[in-house]
Amino acid sequence: MPTPNLSRLAEQIEDPRFLWTKNRDRTIADYMTPRLFDVHTHTQFAAFHDDRDTVIRRALDAGVWMINVGTQRDTSKSAIETAHRYSEGVYATVGLHPIHTEKSYHDEQELGTFPYSQEYENVGEEKGFTSRAEEFDYEYYKNLAEDSKVVGIGECGLDYYRLSEETKEKQKDVFLKQIELAADVKKPLMVHCRNAFSDLISILQPTTSNLLPNPGVIHFFTGTVDDARKLLDLGFSFSFGGVITFARPVRGKSPEATAAPSARASNGASDYEEVIKFIPLDRILLETDAPYVTPAPYRGKRNEPAYISEVARKMAEIKKVSLNNVSETTVKNTFSLFGLAIARE
Ligand SMILES: [Zn+2]
Repeated sequence: MPTPNLSRLAEQIEDPRFLWTKNRDRTIADYMTPRLFDVHTHTQFAAFHDDRDTVIRRALDAGVWMINVGTQRDTSKSAIETAHRYSEGVYATVGLHPIHTEKSYHDEQELGTFPYSQEYENVGEEKGFTSRAEEFDYEYYKNLAEDSKVVGIGECGLDYYRLSEETKEKQKDVFLKQIELAADVKKPLMVHCRNAFSDLISILQPTTSNLLPNPGVIHFFTGTVDDARKLLDLGFSFSFGGVITFARPVRGKSPEATAAPSARASNGASDYEEVIKFIPLDRILLETDAPYVTPAPYRGKRNEPAYISEVARKMAEIKKVSLNNVSETTVKNTFSLFGLAIARE
């Protein structure tokens, strides 16, 4: 069990109903109103332009709280604006995604082979525009990061799935700056990593000591058991999403590339199951990554935070525990990791 970040929680708790730290007979769970927590979603993206409020209300009404994750300067800002429209239950992270550190040369591939695409992300941008070679402006992001609704830095990290060699250095540099920012503002990291776990771990090993005791979450974790072990040792948590409801990935390949039925193992087991069984439930969080990676049985539709219930159900099945246990534990993990309290405006 990682040390819960109790001092940060206590600092932020102002509502007298939530002074649970002064009453040890009570547990965090007594005060948690969400049933499930979608720790990585993007309802600020263009995909929700026409019905954003309906989608968010649908989740909140179902007891699902969420963190809208920024991917570059505009989606980071709009994640904060979205969060401020709700008195509670909607939070934000701000950061620069590794694929936005270079001008995209893979638009066609991405749009051509993915069932969902980055076009969702760009409100009012030309269709098919995927990334813009943004320079990381530390002061701009620091200013956003200090907002009360911002609970973490990212998504940031490394993505070697589609890139040229020289852009690796740029990604590493931008990732290091965001680790520095997370240490600076004392908020955890929201890490994206694809096909780059050995470099990711090499960067995190010497830098994690500057971060909080719960340094962050590796979102959409696709690494091996060995990668998980190293990241657990550093204190990281892991979030899993809709892909666990349908994918049978072959290790070392991206889940998107291998999620086709033909790649499924005949025994019905997947590498996700092996990794999920290995990671203790108190280091696991749930996500949708909406509008992407829609869980079964909603495949083919746009994803949204309310569908997190399907991810929770599958998690309970893999972990062989009750849905209640998954719900309570993952929500509690989320509150501890992100130092959340009920902020009333
Ligand atoms: Zn994402």
